[in-house]
Amino acid sequence: MLVFVNNLKKQVEMPDGSSAKDLVEMLNLRAPHQSLAAEINGVTKDLSHPLAQDDKITLWNFDDIEGKEVYWHTSAHVLAQAILRLWPEALPTIGPPIENGFYYDFANLTITDADFERIDQEVQKILDENYQPKRYEFKDKQEALTRFPGNKYKKELIESFDDSSISGYGQGEFFDLCRGPHLPNIGKIKAFKVLKTSGAYWRADAKNEMLTRIYAISFPDRKLLKDYLFVLEEAKKRDHRIIGPKLDLFSLKEEAPGMPFIHPHGMIIWNKLIDFWRGLHTKAGYIEIKTPQLMSQELWETSGHWFHYRENMYSFEIEARHFAIKPMNCPGCMLFYKTHSHSYRELPLRVSELGHVHRHEASGALSGLFRVRSFHQDDAHLFMKPSEIKQEILKVLALTEEIYAAFGLEYRLELSTRPEKSIGNDEDWIVATAGLKDALDQWGQPYRVNEGDGAFYGPKIDIHIKDALGRSWQCGTVQLDMALPEKFKLEYMDSDGVLKRPVMIHRALFGSVERFFGILIEHFVGKFPLWISPMQVRIITVADRHAEYAHEVAKQVRSAGFLCDVDDASESVNKKIRSAQMLQINYMLTVGDKEIENKTAALRTRDNVVHGEIQISEFIKALEKEMNDKSLVSCFAKEEKIDENHGQ
Ligand SMILES: [Zn+2]
Ligand SMILES: [Zn+2]
Repeated sequence: MLVFVNNLKKQVEMPDGSSAKDLVEMLNLRAPHQSLAAEINGVTKDLSHPLAQDDKITLWNFDDIEGKEVYWHTSAHVLAQAILRLWPEALPTIGPPIENGFYYDFANLTITDADFERIDQEVQKILDENYQPKRYEFKDKQEALTRFPGNKYKKELIESFDDSSISGYGQGEFFDLCRGPHLPNIGKIKAFKVLKTSGAYWRADAKNEMLTRIYAISFPDRKLLKDYLFVLEEAKKRDHRIIGPKLDLFSLKEEAPGMPFIHPHGMIIWNKLIDFWRGLHTKAGYIEIKTPQLMSQELWETSGHWFHYRENMYSFEIEARHFAIKPMNCPGCMLFYKTHSHSYRELPLRVSELGHVHRHEASGALSGLFRVRSFHQDDAHLFMKPSEIKQEILKVLALTEEIYAAFGLEYRLELSTRPEKSIGNDEDWIVATAGLKDALDQWGQPYRVNEGDGAFYGPKIDIHIKDALGRSWQCGTVQLDMALPEKFKLEYMDSDGVLKRPVMIHRALFGSVERFFGILIEHFVGKFPLWISPMQVRIITVADRHAEYAHEVAKQVRSAGFLCDVDDASESVNKKIRSAQMLQINYMLTVGDKEIENKTAALRTRDNVVHGEIQISEFIKALEKEMNDKSLVSCFAKEEKIDENHGQ
């Protein structure tokens, strides 16, 4: 028989009755990270699945999201097997893969961090036994129920399933309810580690009992595990919830949960971000508006938020009228659009708004600047003719590139298309999706397509940024909307004298300014590049008699437009340098007798590299260049790599 292998982009001749596993053997793709499962005609299956004439096959590796899911899902079974060997009375419930690794929830189990090593060791024993997970299809629910006596969680799951498709997987003495697919053999798991444990409600419902959740991760290579653990450690050091208050950038207070207070140094960074943002938008032909925080319930009924988003909105009654604080800026912008009539000549109309929005998030979900209840969106709504979609998207992508590049952030793009449940007619969806797709194709950067993952009112492009640690964050989004212009009856007069409905795009590039600020703190580990740094220069005196000159130098640096202060405390120079370095001040200028005589200063950077004596005017000139270039590295940085540990 002939099958088509998508990975090779060609047909392959196979003996009749062959499985995907035979194909893997034939192509010699048996490495631990290779050929974890096969997508056969669009459905992911075990490698043991038999092939048929003309099947279209994609083999998934660990580098693919699909491959990782199968890998980590199988690893979750191994974890459950180990737990049952160590705690036979524990009751397994569910164990899905997540973005980084997987977890498994157990009832009737209490463990502590001290048990992790034992679990890892038991897992290793099971991996050495190298089982080949075997799939079993149940005849019906009744048969499935008999396989899990005394486990009410599995019973509840089985009862919620469709009778026709219940399956399980077995390896050694362990058997679990499971849809699959699984790895062909668990020996492909080469490195495994339990990471943490927490409580979790059954089915994520606080009314249900609390289970014990165990998080773990596994890899096809020990080196990958080592790298991952390194990133975890680094992430702890970079945690913005620790660095932020330490550098006095922001705080969170019990009196206003999830609503950050931005402190003076944080405001310096904030304002730099906004100035930069505003400058780019003015250049790109945007106009800016500001709409109210509080608008009437009727407006939210028209926009649909009152029916679909009410539980996340703060609302109240005043003078017998209902109001809500805006969770989104769109309805305000719709009212702005309708202030007067529009001609095709005004399109595309690009309206930006740095809108302050409030969304109710459960207190348990709040986390630093990443999950908040009050935040600013760098929003914009673009109104255009359908024929202008592609050009506008390309302009948005160019703006995205310019913004992220300024911070040294890489990014990737994902296109989400029409979901099953959606509004609007086929033709509008085809035009809209083609507009986005054509723009992405012309943009030329590879992108991922998430079929059916768009909003019910239109397709979208999500922008995921990658920080210095390689972690991915979804920030920007470009969302085409076919619903709101209809609901608000937006119109423009076309060249043929007919009133038409414009196409609208919502887009945000930072996403939430608060969150983006948090990401920048972690990305730079608090060592901000000069152009957004809240403390750029500090003058340090050697002795009290140098204070006058120090203040003179500070005045010069400040009049050149830089943030500069003086540390003339009666402390040792070393102590003063150390405290400036703790605050991540970009440059330290030390002044003593020699410097006063020569009208110079001794320059040192925050990574403790000494650059020696420098003329003040020369120093200012170099900083001006570094600032104007929005450089991410110091203008005094040498070619050779600086030893990070030195002197810190
Ligand atoms: Zn499974
Ligand atoms: Zn919007």
